[in-house]
Amino acid sequence: MEKKRIYKFGNGHAEGRADMRNLLGGKGANLAEMNLIGVPVPPGFTITTEVCTEYNQHGKEAVVELIKKDVEEAIAHVEELMGSKFGDKENPLLVSVRSGARVSMPGMMDTVLNLGLNDEVVEGIARKSGNERFAWDSYRRFVQMYGDVVLGMKPKSKDDIDPFEEIMEKKKAEKGITLDTEFTVDDLKDLVVLFKAAVKECTGKDFPTSSWEQLWGAICAVFDSWMNERAITYRQMYQIPEEWGTAVNVQAMVFGNMGNTSATGVAFTRDASTGEDLFNGEYLINAQGEDVVAGIRTPQQITTEGSRRWAKLQGISEEDRASKYPSLEEAMPECAAQLIETQQKLEDYFKDMQDLEFTIQDNKLWLLQTRNGKRTGAAMVKIAMDLYRDGEIDDKTVLKRMEANKLDELLHPVFAKEALQQAKVIAKGLPASPGAATGKIVFFADDAEAWAEKRKKVVLVRIETSPEDLRGMTVAQGILTARGGMTSHAAVVARGMGKCCVSGAGDIKVDYKARTIEMSGKVYKEGDWISLNGSTGEVYEGQVATVDPELSGDFAAIMDICEKYTKMDVRTNADTPKDAAIARKFGAKGIGLCRTEHMFFEGERIKAMREMILAKDTAGRKEALKKLLPMQRSDFEGIFEAMDGLGVTIRLLDPPLHEFVPHQLATQKELADEMGMTLEEVKLACDALEEFNPMLGHRGCRLGNTYPEITEMQARAIIEAALNMKAKGIIVHPEIMVPLVGIVTELKMQADIIHATAKKVFEEKGDTIEYKVGTMIEVPRAAVTADEIAECADFFSFGTNDLTQMTFGYSRDDAGKFLKIYREKGILKNDPFQILDQKGVGALIKMATEKGRSVKPQIKLGICGEHGGEPSSVQFCNSLGLNYVSCSPFRVPIARVAAAQAAVEQA
Ligand code: ADP
Ligand code: MG
Ligand code: MG
Repeated sequence: MEKKRIYKFGNGHAEGRADMRNLLGGKGANLAEMNLIGVPVPPGFTITTEVCTEYNQHGKEAVVELIKKDVEEAIAHVEELMGSKFGDKENPLLVSVRSGARVSMPGMMDTVLNLGLNDEVVEGIARKSGNERFAWDSYRRFVQMYGDVVLGMKPKSKDDIDPFEEIMEKKKAEKGITLDTEFTVDDLKDLVVLFKAAVKECTGKDFPTSSWEQLWGAICAVFDSWMNERAITYRQMYQIPEEWGTAVNVQAMVFGNMGNTSATGVAFTRDASTGEDLFNGEYLINAQGEDVVAGIRTPQQITTEGSRRWAKLQGISEEDRASKYPSLEEAMPECAAQLIETQQKLEDYFKDMQDLEFTIQDNKLWLLQTRNGKRTGAAMVKIAMDLYRDGEIDDKTVLKRMEANKLDELLHPVFAKEALQQAKVIAKGLPASPGAATGKIVFFADDAEAWAEKRKKVVLVRIETSPEDLRGMTVAQGILTARGGMTSHAAVVARGMGKCCVSGAGDIKVDYKARTIEMSGKVYKEGDWISLNGSTGEVYEGQVATVDPELSGDFAAIMDICEKYTKMDVRTNADTPKDAAIARKFGAKGIGLCRTEHMFFEGERIKAMREMILAKDTAGRKEALKKLLPMQRSDFEGIFEAMDGLGVTIRLLDPPLHEFVPHQLATQKELADEMGMTLEEVKLACDALEEFNPMLGHRGCRLGNTYPEITEMQARAIIEAALNMKAKGIIVHPEIMVPLVGIVTELKMQADIIHATAKKVFEEKGDTIEYKVGTMIEVPRAAVTADEIAECADFFSFGTNDLTQMTFGYSRDDAGKFLKIYREKGILKNDPFQILDQKGVGALIKMATEKGRSVKPQIKLGICGEHGGEPSSVQFCNSLGLNYVSCSPFRVPIARVAAAQAAVEQA
């Protein structure tokens, strides 16, 4: 049988289904499903994502040839259901041509509306509808969209303006009007002529009059849009594979621009910011498509309750609101009631918060899209738990719904109550995406990027945002816009990113040229500090102080579900009792990596450390180490106490000694005086420590094997601390970890020192404690000879930072220069320091796991690199059956969710 490339839908029938999103794209699959469950949807058809792949492989002509007959047949199907004819002068059918990938990519790809119009068809539409203005409004929109999307006239950079917008602005100025709705029929006719002239001038060709030529142009343009720069950037950001492709949906037009009995809007079945079960959304009378989100006119609220809340935030009186900005419930009660019924039906059916597009044509409601709505981390948690408590979904589905990385948003600080009371409110907008943001004002996305690179915190201030601003939005602390509602680009994207956003702050005056913003009568410049409260819509002057968030309720309930399903423990990387305590609060089951070197930098300690390093002989070193011992011991005591009852893995000294010695003359002189050496001697000693490749130099267990007295001191500090805590009734499980082992003998010699030291301490104290000795697996040779190494290790901990560096031969500190280019060129899909390279580094981990267990089946295995908190890497660790992953304290909840998800998926 021939491959099916086109799926039709309409009038309660459909060839596709919701679960065919890979083939039909999210939009197409749900359009089909809505038909099947009796929701009114204009008829149409979906060209599959596979055709997009064929298009990219075989080119335009071949693909048009391939699907020509099917498209003609599918158009005939739509004609039959609509009782009209494509390209006909008397009774014309108009269609939209819409993109739609597997996952939604808001605003990234292109859509053309009102397709099928020409100078004759427009008259037919006018006669048939009895509404000349509507016909010409649709025509001018069509020429503009087609020109932008298909004929490539869309501005390429932020400084260019859309040629069509320019013409419209000129016309408005001439007429002394401000709104599109104020154009007369003659104005619109003029605009069409001017638009077509602009097309001719820009492309050298006449605007196509044949409906079929228009249709093929639009279909190909949608396929092309999959490979446009915006879409590519977006895919890179969200790791969406290029192979997925986009589907094309061709659908009969319904018109929200037919006059005052028509409207268009977007809605959410629940609050996408907070997760509250509140149906909400925005609409505009006599409008089409993107008008609502484009921020040209102020959109109105669908529910009266929402409308009142909105008016209050905007400082609009109830009287003004009801007359100028009535809700849909007030303006079109019957359609509103039907919409409310439909949204409930869709949510009950899909069992998740839906984001809807609808259009009302002459008092009849049509749905144009439904999808699982983008939401903040807080809303993600609340909605899933609410649906679970209502018995709509089970706890495994709750887990599946968690985007692990989004939990991060819940862990971050919020404004301190006292600080807020004193903060000066300088503007107010809509609470578009919650959070507390403080940063310096910037006006352009590329500035935001440049400043952020210099570690400056910025707030991106725009009149409104567009997809070009995406990268800038990513690096900003928060986003403030002058225009646009709760469903504007800025609002939707910010919520998706979990970024604080205040939108539609109408009273602020943004001047891009002067790079200033006027708020409450005061001018603020680029670089001035402001703070945003994304939960109230308030904008404050300066920096407002923050505090830690409350983590109980739904968050705790999600963590309980994780606990029920997870197979791996999540530990934390913590060097201080404070970090250890935070991680424990987040549910860490121990410390997977406690680095000792940080302890040597504080205050007086660095001096003792330097004395140790610069000592001329073993006796001198031992003298200095004696000073360090009590300091280390008390650090370990604090950590053991914080981790009462849980395992604590302590790594012996790891970095090259050169990092500890002074590099400035003044400090070298000071050190010389203290140690009774000459400056010259100190300088020489410091210089001698200099290495060409410190990362591959005298570090890790190479230190302990050349200066065994260091290992001896550290082992003593650990065992003494453990015994001291034991005496206080605290349960301690010390695990001593030897770094950078590549040869089994390296580990064996270190283990011998540790065991001998422990024995000595036990005798001295008259008490004993169980402890483990293990190693990091972070040198490729260690992974390859893991069976030998396992003989003298109680545990392995995969140090994937070093293992990645050494497997790739990339220095992490220098890789920034080429990694970006490598990713752009597709040499690397991801940054291997962020996302574990499963094929290469992962294969070494797998080998070490198998070899280790073949010798010692009970050997404890874990991972302690940055990757331990990255969901796809956590999943990989689960598949290898590791005992635990360890990550920084704030990533513990993320890793817990990822680990539980992996366990559920594997079962
Ligand atoms: P996006 O994926 O960017 O949301 P869409 O394909 O959904 O793009 O369409 C853009 C806008 O045009 C939406 O507001 C949508 O509701 C509207 N639209 C699309 N097709 C039709 C149609 N057949 N009739 C009326 N409006 C439509
Ligand atoms: Mg509801
Ligand atoms: Mg859409």
